[in-house]
Amino acid sequence: MKAWEKNIRRVTPYVAGEQPAQEKMIKLNTNENPYPPAPGVARVLHGLNTDELRLYPDLTIKPLVEELARFYKLDADQVFVGVGSDDVLATCFLTFFNSELPVLFPDITYSFYPVWCQLYRIPYETPPLDANFRIVKEDYYRANGGIVIANPNAPTSIYEELDFLDDIISHNKESIVIVDEAYVDFADGPSAIELLKKHDNLVVVQTFSKARSMAGMRIGYAMANPELIRALNDVKYSINSYTLNHTAILAGVESVRDEAYFRENIKKLVATREKFQESLHSLGFSFPKSAANFVFASHKKIPALEIYKVLRENNIFVRYFSMPRIDNYLRITIGRDEEMDTVVSFLSKFIENYK
Ligand code: PMP
Repeated sequence: MKAWEKNIRRVTPYVAGEQPAQEKMIKLNTNENPYPPAPGVARVLHGLNTDELRLYPDLTIKPLVEELARFYKLDADQVFVGVGSDDVLATCFLTFFNSELPVLFPDITYSFYPVWCQLYRIPYETPPLDANFRIVKEDYYRANGGIVIANPNAPTSIYEELDFLDDIISHNKESIVIVDEAYVDFADGPSAIELLKKHDNLVVVQTFSKARSMAGMRIGYAMANPELIRALNDVKYSINSYTLNHTAILAGVESVRDEAYFRENIKKLVATREKFQESLHSLGFSFPKSAANFVFASHKKIPALEIYKVLRENNIFVRYFSMPRIDNYLRITIGRDEEMDTVVSFLSKFIENYK
């Protein structure tokens, strides 16, 4: 062993869903949106003045911060923008979780959380979800170094009401509570942004990757009181001053400005989700009622891994997690209506002929 090997930081990385190179496939494995971003996004990209790329981008990301603040009726100093919510969440973990006490998040949730804890050497514990995959809020009424709740949770797709989050935040005035709302726009309840007025220890994180159809552009943001936003910016400027690129800032602004398109996009997706859930039910799947752009489903008779494999052989990609408690479930992203119809007819034939 070389002397320097002991100085290398070792971490088991997060494994993202695959991005297959095929042209002809139904891709329902990474919770991307099947519809294009707002038309204004294409407009600014087509009209891009490449000469502007000579310059560094706005390091404060001001145009987008201000547009988001307007959209959510916040002040600009309550908004922090990063390169996807993964970047924002990683910055939050590094900034806010510097306690000797463990950070708490459910055993079944976004599997990036434990990776950041390991990377930054943050102690953590994972109170189990109950048998119905619900968060047991009392598990969070104890000394801790911070709390992270994905709402709707991933991969379960379950949304908890604001009263529930309010209880958790109220019981934890000594630590920072992050609510990861990557999927909240698909839920029929409100965002925890409403609770920011009441709680100075709350950080709400959202993304452009799902309801705004811009996973490839990499934009995420956090909303919190100005003191927490300042702390996030201090850490950001201590790693990389220029996070969001010039083009992403322009595109992000266009997306936020077009609220009508945003609402319509969500409405279409939710309608497809409701129809798909009915079909899954009649095919013998069970699943929690989804509040997200995916369904977390288990078949009564056929093991999830078998279904995953047969779908894959037929160029239908869904996500399977080989993890305790959820290894008989498939996470199926909601795509276009036609794509979901194809999946349903494929599954229906497969199940009918299954012995
Ligand atoms: N939080 C949750 C719960 C997610 O499922 C995802 C998507 N993988 C993210 C955050 C990160 O999304 P992005 O970095 O694309 O904003």
